[in-house]
Amino acid sequence: MAEGIVTERAGQKITVYLPEEGRELRGVPLGKVRKKEKVFAGDIVEGRVVDSSTFAIERVKERKNLLVRPPIANVDKVVVVSTLKNPEFQNFLLDNLLVVYDHLGLDTVVVFNKVDLLDPKEREELNRWVEIYRNAGYPVVTASVETGEGLKKLREELKGVTSIFAGPSGVGKSSLISKLTGVELRTGQVSRKTERGRHTTREVRLIPFEGGFIGDAPGFSRVDALNFMEREEVRLHFPEFGRYQCRFSDCLHLEEEGCEVREAVKRGEIPCERFKSYLKMLKVYLPWLSEVCKEE
Ligand code: GDP
Ligand code: ZN
Repeated sequence: MAEGIVTERAGQKITVYLPEEGRELRGVPLGKVRKKEKVFAGDIVEGRVVDSSTFAIERVKERKNLLVRPPIANVDKVVVVSTLKNPEFQNFLLDNLLVVYDHLGLDTVVVFNKVDLLDPKEREELNRWVEIYRNAGYPVVTASVETGEGLKKLREELKGVTSIFAGPSGVGKSSLISKLTGVELRTGQVSRKTERGRHTTREVRLIPFEGGFIGDAPGFSRVDALNFMEREEVRLHFPEFGRYQCRFSDCLHLEEEGCEVREAVKRGEIPCERFKSYLKMLKVYLPWLSEVCKEE
């Protein structure tokens, strides 16, 4: 028995990568697999090499997870890409993505791309955001496809794991993947239509990279945390809140007595930007916040 990873699932076509041989074969699911199981990109499969171009899939190993967008199994990490400008940074959108991916059990890396476009003042503004996310506990990379800044660090983050890139359109997700892997992505690729006009599943490919894989189709561009979880859960995905012990363990950090998170916001230890995102996710407004967090 050999073990491989499905790197492509497009209609009936399955491609299996054999890490030991470093090559890809056409995957053919045998009876039991064909009848009972769907095969997704990212699946770890067991089987046999039957000839120089064919791998017979006898078993699909249990999945650690299965994403819907894009349809990839066993994803470890999400690179959430933003830019300070072109397009303009939306911290609420980034915070939502970080909360949702944490809820889905995936590690995240925060990337600010296109730093080559920034003048010194904008660079300072970016540094403030970088500090905010680092202090919250996320790995942060400032990057530029133009100058190559940050790409070595990003490469380190992607070693040996299966990752996808997420974030709004235009921030440079495809450009980063192309630059890192040398594989030109078909940009603007949309779901193909079959002859009958139905949409087929979008093609996804995993690109072997540094002992791991990068998915060539983007993750979420924007999400609403409350579509994924109850209000009570959101606070658990703000890592910095977990450093404080409120009087009540089920404290939502709103107006409860003995809320240490609120005190931390007042002392400036938790930045207003992050706390405001939290409230916005819960669709709550707190009058005391306008005192503490003065609008510029
Ligand atoms: P995606 O929608 O997130 O996949 O973004 P693309 O990779 O298609 O990039 C959108 C545009 O931004 C393209 O015109 C890229 O050439 C440009 N771009 C991507 N990365 C950078 C960068 O680091 N610096 C600059 N100046 N432009 C970039
Ligand atoms: Zn609290």
